[in-house]
Amino acid sequence: MSTIAENIAKVGVRIREAAQASQRDFAKIGLLAVSKTKPAAAIREAHGAGLHDFGENYLQEALDKQVQLADLALTWHFIGPIQSNKTRPIAEHFAWVHSVDRLKIAERLSEQRPPELPPLNICLQVNVSGEPSKSGCQPDELAALAQAVTQLPKLRLRGLMTIPQPTDDIAMQRAAFARLRTLRDDLNLDLDTLSMGMSHDLEAAIAEGATWVRIGTALFGERDYKKT
Ligand SMILES: *Cc1c(COP(=O)(O)O)cnc(C)c1O
Repeated sequence: MSTIAENIAKVGVRIREAAQASQRDFAKIGLLAVSKTKPAAAIREAHGAGLHDFGENYLQEALDKQVQLADLALTWHFIGPIQSNKTRPIAEHFAWVHSVDRLKIAERLSEQRPPELPPLNICLQVNVSGEPSKSGCQPDELAALAQAVTQLPKLRLRGLMTIPQPTDDIAMQRAAFARLRTLRDDLNLDLDTLSMGMSHDLEAAIAEGATWVRIGTALFGERDYKKT
């Protein structure tokens, strides 16, 4: 087995055990493979080992890999910060966007989504840790943003996403993810998605209801930003 296939198997065990520990259905937890900085060949290998959903943060890099992998049936998720002049290619080339944190971006994505494609699946990114420099809307801005996004014709609001402040304290990890779940539930919009949990905290996220865990390092190894 290749290293990537072995890693996928190991992450699969972690997800399964975490699901079992909180008596959740394993099938309701999606594995989103975060392939930023990794070559198309790594994605091809992960697809060969059974993965279909890939998350990318950098638009040009993602578009280049999509061309190289056009022969595969992959589902692409945009998970990075979004500049308003980059919304058109995102609306055209992705099935999901997890990192919408302001209405202007949502409006542009809806306007620019090609009519022949199904609505773009959207998660609103929320800053649950309250760090000033982080992306994500503030919890007190969320209800108005969510209401407005539900009115946009070419978007389908699916749920919320967060990247909490990294910590090794499991109780603090869980508190941040529980906050996102509560915010989702309080919206009362019948949202089925919580995009939360990365390589170091997927267990805590699953315990609090994650439906997508976004895993990079544990699948593909450490990222080397110098090379890109
Ligand atoms: C890079 C990234 C991940 C993956 O993080 P790992 O710690 O490598 O698993 C998940 N989500 C987002 C938004 C990211 O930018």
